[in-house]
Amino acid sequence: MSVEKTAMVAKAVATSKRFKLISDLDVEGRRVFVRVDFNVPMDDDRRITDDSRIQGTLPTIRALREGGARIVLASHLGRPKGKPKPEFSLEPVASHLAGLLNQDVMLPDDCIGDAPRKLTQDLREGQIVLLENLRFHPEEEAGDELFARQLASLADIYVNDAFGTAHRAHASVSGVPKLLSDKAAGLLMAAEIEHLSRLLNNPPAPYVAVLGGAKVSDKIAVIESLLLRVNCVLVGGAMAYTLLAAQGFDMGDSLVELDKLEIAQRLLRKAEARGVTFLLPEDHIISESIDGSSSTQVVQNGEIPKGFRGVDIGPATIRTFQDQIHGAKTVFWNGPMGIFEVDMFAKGTTAVAQAIAHSGAHSVVGGGDSVAAVRKAGVAPFISHISTGGGASLEFIEGVELPGIVALYTR
Ligand code: AMP
Repeated sequence: MSVEKTAMVAKAVATSKRFKLISDLDVEGRRVFVRVDFNVPMDDDRRITDDSRIQGTLPTIRALREGGARIVLASHLGRPKGKPKPEFSLEPVASHLAGLLNQDVMLPDDCIGDAPRKLTQDLREGQIVLLENLRFHPEEEAGDELFARQLASLADIYVNDAFGTAHRAHASVSGVPKLLSDKAAGLLMAAEIEHLSRLLNNPPAPYVAVLGGAKVSDKIAVIESLLLRVNCVLVGGAMAYTLLAAQGFDMGDSLVELDKLEIAQRLLRKAEARGVTFLLPEDHIISESIDGSSSTQVVQNGEIPKGFRGVDIGPATIRTFQDQIHGAKTVFWNGPMGIFEVDMFAKGTTAVAQAIAHSGAHSVVGGGDSVAAVRKAGVAPFISHISTGGGASLEFIEGVELPGIVALYTR
């Protein structure tokens, strides 16, 4: 994306009076379709293991309830692949939400058809219906117009509070709002837009981006766009190995995307040309296995033997990254520094989470793994904004106009 286009998108979003907030709408007595992200993790007994996505939407639901709205919630859950499957029912979410709100949450057995039509017609002010999993119908992900019409017929007003799916042009995300002229961003969506816009619109320098995770190929577009705005990029996780391999280092048996070496070289050249400090790990924790069953060693770049893999950043890299983060005024973080799911390999990721929390910078953390690491390290309260959208937050800071946000524009 060109510098001009990124700047244009940033301006459009930052001055984002292009969409309404729920406080701009008169919801009393009207049926409000609220696209939420209740795609929560569950254990084998279908118990919710992390309800933060539900908690995140409570302010919007409460505000609508207080305003006297008749509330119709809609979400996806998991990947039922377009078929009704009991193991993907939103039933556990409905019960959990009912407990949190201390009121009944009605759950019809489908999101379209007679049952939801009747329930939504009979809804009284302040009452809540949660439609069954939208992805029981393949039309949801296909962005089907007829399906969107059926959903839209259940309500008078549209509210989107599901930032995590705003980058998908699905029927409930971009189809329904095209059909309902009274529409607004929910409180969670508005907070996401506000915090993430600050990263696009003259963020206070130094702006440090910390990127990790498995593959550099997933993050090329976002790195390219970050190079236009940041002062420093810190890269950890396996994605750093491809960049190091592109510099000629032998990475042993570490995860390297061999077909991406040229792109990696190009990225490194771009960073240099723009004068952005681009730091890769100088040392590594290596192991013969990735499940924590073998011992670990610390090695410098170029010293990873055959049969060994990099599993985390090393202690010298941690110090370098901490120094950069401590001096930052703005920080964005996405992706773990190693295989953090294994406790033995989580040191680098935890150290980054703590450094960001103590930096005093405007900090935004996105992506399931980084968010989990922040929570595990107990530092979530010290992060300015924990984004509920991994992919969506990456696309947003890349400067892409997300379909779910564009669909809310009223001017
Ligand atoms: P992503 O979805 O691209 O953000 O990648 C997250 C995944 O990257 C996590 O499951 C990590 O375990 C994995 N990861 C991070 N560092 C490494 C590494 N050094 N080797 C293998 N996998 C890694």
